[in-house]
Amino acid sequence: MLIHIPSVPLLHRTDIAVVGSGSAGVTAAIAAAREGKRVTLVERYGFLGGTSTGVLDTFYGFYTPGRAARKVVGGVPDDMLRRLYAEKAAFERPNTFGAGTGITYDPETLKWVWEDLATEAGVQLLYHSFCTDVVMDGNKVAGIVTDGKRGLMRIDADVVIDCSGDADVAFRAGVPFERAGEGSAAQTLTTTFRLANVDGERAKQVPRKRLVEMMKEANRSGRYHLPREEGSIHATPVAGVMLAIMTRLDGYDPCDPVSLTAAEIEGRRQVREYVRFLVNEVPGYEQARLVALSTQIGVRETRRIYGEYRLTKEDVTAVRKFGDTIGQCGAPIEDHHGGNDTHWEFLPEGAAYDIPFRSLVPQQAEGLLVAGRCFSATHEAHASCRSMAQCMAMGQAAGVAAAIAAGRDALPRHVDIGQVQQRLVDTGAILYDWQSRDGTE
Ligand SMILES: Cc1cc2nc3c(=O)[nH]c(=O)nc-3n(C[C@H](O)[C@H](O)[C@H](O)COP(=O)(O)OP(=O)(O)OC[C@H]3O[C@@H](n4cnc5c(N)ncnc54)[C@H](O)[C@@H]3O)c2cc1C
Repeated sequence: MLIHIPSVPLLHRTDIAVVGSGSAGVTAAIAAAREGKRVTLVERYGFLGGTSTGVLDTFYGFYTPGRAARKVVGGVPDDMLRRLYAEKAAFERPNTFGAGTGITYDPETLKWVWEDLATEAGVQLLYHSFCTDVVMDGNKVAGIVTDGKRGLMRIDADVVIDCSGDADVAFRAGVPFERAGEGSAAQTLTTTFRLANVDGERAKQVPRKRLVEMMKEANRSGRYHLPREEGSIHATPVAGVMLAIMTRLDGYDPCDPVSLTAAEIEGRRQVREYVRFLVNEVPGYEQARLVALSTQIGVRETRRIYGEYRLTKEDVTAVRKFGDTIGQCGAPIEDHHGGNDTHWEFLPEGAAYDIPFRSLVPQQAEGLLVAGRCFSATHEAHASCRSMAQCMAMGQAAGVAAAIAAGRDALPRHVDIGQVQQRLVDTGAILYDWQSRDGTE
């Protein structure tokens, strides 16, 4: 029986509803719409991209690290990259920590690049709408409820894709999950910031190693309090503007608004301290001005669902291949734990493990797929697989699988995985040797 929340008016019926428009959600929506389905993309903010446009500016995960760099993500994300390059709003750069070539972009340009691609594909965008609940038909998610200035609204859908980053839909649908911090320490939070008026040439003369030493000296002197001593600051496509990923907040719960409020306040307090340090101590920053803070504090991990498969640290380090592969990842385990350093663990050079489709299929609830940083993985595996390129690969696969399931009364967990893989490859996704995989593992 369909359980509708009394008096919640129906906005519309759609084939696929995607919640959250970060790297995973916007890619999922575009991929599904390009398969000819009606798609609604629900987003709490007034722009697309989530963490990629609100907090950051460098995609990792497109390439394996090392000299024998290999591209492992393609398809819809390539269309986005082509447009960024065409607007001279992106460039490649080696990762500060050796995690592979990154692609640094202008986040403001990315907002409209994603918007153009989504609207051209026919995606119906719904901004300023927070998904607060689900419509259940037995154990099947039959729609979502959003809240906004107009009040509650219902969207009925054949398939819902949860790309909220925090597994908000899965949580409401009763899907089991692990909360970050339950088994091992949760990754820390970071408010990012942009400085303008930096003398880029002089700033470049300060090697990263020297900057780290300067942060350590600053702490030792007692004149500064810098919680993370090896954060990074890098050039952007806009001359004289640098983006800093330096602050570190430990012990907050991003799924609790009370705790998150305290984190936002502390994050901005830390930014002021880092700006004071950069301007007073580091050559090239003497005339720098703070011009932007991240739209919200950057959140690395919260809820991770339990899916039909849970990607583990062993899968990552053993470079495991899966019969139901929907994407690849060569990124190292990058654990931003509390304390002033970061834990790194690398794969063999040039290697990439598979992301199995089953890690997007939640236990218990039907009609639902989960993609992006809330997919089914342990803390360590997540610390490798959460880069934005992998979130896009997961979103793309979820979008294609949802499109195959929608309108046929098929449940996403039962889609023909070979058909999903063939469509992914046909549309540019990179799945090396997928046809030679034996069985599901
Ligand atoms: C500080 C920091 C630095 C990082 N550095 C890098 C890096 O340099 N390169 C890299 O590749 N990766 C980096 N990562 C990791 C990467 O950015 C994330 O894992 C990735 O962006 C997550 O994408 P997503 O689509 O899963 O989620 P998000 O990008 O978090 O998107 C979730 C979207 O859902 C929306 N939403 C949430 N709840 C609801 C709701 N209930 N209703 C409606 N909308 C909702 C949000 O507003 C958001 O738009 C970093 C992460 C952080 C926090």
